[in-house]
Amino acid sequence: MLTLFSCGKTDVIAPPPGIEINKSQTAENLNKFYGTEMKNLYIRVFYETGAEPYAGNNSRDQPVWGLLEQNIKQVFETRNQTVTFHVPKNLSEMSEFPAQNKVGWRTSELVQFAEGLGVPPSTNETAYFTIVFVKGGFDTGQDITNSVLGVSIAGTTIIAIFKDAIRLLGPSDQSLTVKFGEQATLVHEMGHALGIVANGVNVVEDHHDEDHGSHCSNSSCVMYWMNEGNKDLLEFIQGIVQNGNATLYGQQCLDDIKAYNP
Ligand SMILES: [Zn+2]
Ligand SMILES: [Zn+2]
Repeated sequence: MLTLFSCGKTDVIAPPPGIEINKSQTAENLNKFYGTEMKNLYIRVFYETGAEPYAGNNSRDQPVWGLLEQNIKQVFETRNQTVTFHVPKNLSEMSEFPAQNKVGWRTSELVQFAEGLGVPPSTNETAYFTIVFVKGGFDTGQDITNSVLGVSIAGTTIIAIFKDAIRLLGPSDQSLTVKFGEQATLVHEMGHALGIVANGVNVVEDHHDEDHGSHCSNSSCVMYWMNEGNKDLLEFIQGIVQNGNATLYGQQCLDDIKAYNP
């Protein structure tokens, strides 16, 4: 039982009732991530056949996954932590699993499935995040939706990305919009896993959009609640496409992380 900060369109921002245990990322996890002993951060990626992440290089000849890596780096650099990041860049560094033929995934099913793949617990020196790309939509318990792009399961290091929903962002798998949209979703969900906004990391300057869960009131920040799957995300992505790789977390979100005291 977990709260999830479902990331998608407006109708699914609020966690469905009755599926909460952890309200946010745990202090236990955050104290490890932001502790003085932290040395290595691993992003482990698994994908269902037919739900492959966009990988390789973008049109600027930079790794597509460089956007996630750069943003995670920014989180730790702002704290003056020296951490080595292990972010896969190519499909060959990610693990495929067979088609599951599921129409929808409930949170509990995502957790169970991810744990079947292996979710190593983080230690004081090594943090592990497990990202699972699936086909099918998010099952809120009331309905199955294609408007949720991804979820970060609170109190865990598990993130799920709904590939069918990501594909709806653009005309084809070749479009920059879907590639940057997928990366922006990953950056957003990692933000939750890393404790923002008020998701285990306290807010310094008031920018917590409490009405929409653990989101940011700054519309130019990737943690803004609307930057999760609709027209606003598309506008947000245009900026990334024009500027190349960039820091997507707003300053207020970074300030919160900077101030976190394990
Ligand atoms: Zn979110
Ligand atoms: Zn923000």
